[in-house]
Amino acid sequence: AKHEGRNGYRLFAPAMQAHFTRQLQLVAALRQALGSAQLQLVYQPQVALHSGAVVGAEALLRWRHPELGEVAPDEFIPAAEHSGLIVPLGAWVLRQAVRQARTWRDAGLPPLTMAVNLSAAQFRQPGLPELVSQVLREEGLAPDCLELELTEGVAMHDPHGAVHTMNSLHERGVRMAIDDFGTGFSSLSYLKQFKICKLKIDRSFVRDIGDNPEDQAIVAAIVSMARGLGLSTISEGVETEQQLAMLREQGCDEIQGYYYSRPLAADAFEAFVRARLAA
Ligand code: C2E
Ligand code: CA
Ligand code: CA
Ligand code: CA
Repeated sequence: AKHEGRNGYRLFAPAMQAHFTRQLQLVAALRQALGSAQLQLVYQPQVALHSGAVVGAEALLRWRHPELGEVAPDEFIPAAEHSGLIVPLGAWVLRQAVRQARTWRDAGLPPLTMAVNLSAAQFRQPGLPELVSQVLREEGLAPDCLELELTEGVAMHDPHGAVHTMNSLHERGVRMAIDDFGTGFSSLSYLKQFKICKLKIDRSFVRDIGDNPEDQAIVAAIVSMARGLGLSTISEGVETEQQLAMLREQGCDEIQGYYYSRPLAADAFEAFVRARLAA
């Protein structure tokens, strides 16, 4: 067994080495990027299925480095999480997104929910609820305009702490949604205890929903469970008319995906909302 282990080590070492070198490089570069124009938020519309109206935006982080080029969030977010850099980075994202929501409000856009992704490390910060309240107060946004997207993983290590934090955020009037719902394999009993208002159905169930009866059954079950618990549902990764029709049939409340729009820069998002209002 020892031999195998050593062989395994030799086999994988170069790839691992390259991976860690890249991670370290990203973390160093990201630390420099904080507070610079390299980091921007884009916003993806969330559309109500019954009316077709834009009811929300998900803020998504983009990073363009002068030498590394555009780095994908799926690569730099994990690096930021491992290094702890996600805490200041996430605080920046929160403030930017809240400020943008207030700016749109002032510009006369209809009320929108601003959805912000929160990683587990941010969620575990003892001062998080107070930080959220402070940002809302300073930027002048009503708490119920903010929706924090949490994955099931946030509660994994410390369910009691998670419930405590959610209670505190809930008391402050902030909404919470479970992101990538159905992929975390965690106990459903937490749904009763968590002060959430929305389930975000993961893209993996939406992708083949048009011709896969199993995915249809899973989505139908999630929607019906959400109804029973008084929660709303949003599907992510909706790309086609066929997926949309199927989700409508299943009774999903909201839709997000390339079918309506890719994530947009702030001014393009505003134009998108106005164009749909005029239509
Ligand atoms: P997520 O929260 O599940 O975000 C949805 C991802 O799906 C986004 O990728 C979005 O651009 C992409 N997407 C949206 N519609 C479609 C579609 O119709 N088809 C397909 N194929 N993809 C679609 P993105 O922006 O690359 O972000 C990837 C992940 O990085 C996010 O997944 C989220 O976990 C993380 N992330 C992004 N921004 C932030 C942030 O500010 N903070 C934290 N903690 N995580 C973030
Ligand atoms: Ca999300
Ligand atoms: Ca998601
Ligand atoms: Ca997802």
